Amino acid sequence: MLPCRTNDPELWFAEHTAQVEQAKALCRTCPLQAGCLEGAIERAEPWGVWGGEVFVDGAVVARKRGRGRPRKTEQAAAAPAATAPSPAPSPSPAAVPAVSAASVVPAESRTAAA
Ligand code: SF4
Repeated sequence: MLPCRTNDPELWFAEHTAQVEQAKALCRTCPLQAGCLEGAIERAEPWGVWGGEVFVDGAVVARKRGRGRPRKTEQAAAAPAATAPSPAPSPSPAAVPAVSAASVVPAESRTAAA
């Protein structure tokens, strides 16, 4: 029998990561895993676990994210490794001195004075 037929089918469309991982593990014991995965890729399954892989919007993803904002540990793992120093941040508006029209010297005046 196929695991998705002998277990709760909701596991294959679960929101919680632990349940999704359980479905993936059950798929790995399935005799139809390779064909199931191939078919799901061809159909671009919009969601769920197929052939031991998680599909989101028709593509295989490494792992399903839960709803809501990602945890800080997930954000850090997803961030690209810093290989080069990042450019200096632009100054905040408060750090930039205000320039008034009265303090601007016209270009003609500067050349005439020199
Ligand atoms: S590989 Fe496909 S057929 Fe087999 S348990 Fe997983 S979803 Fe079901």
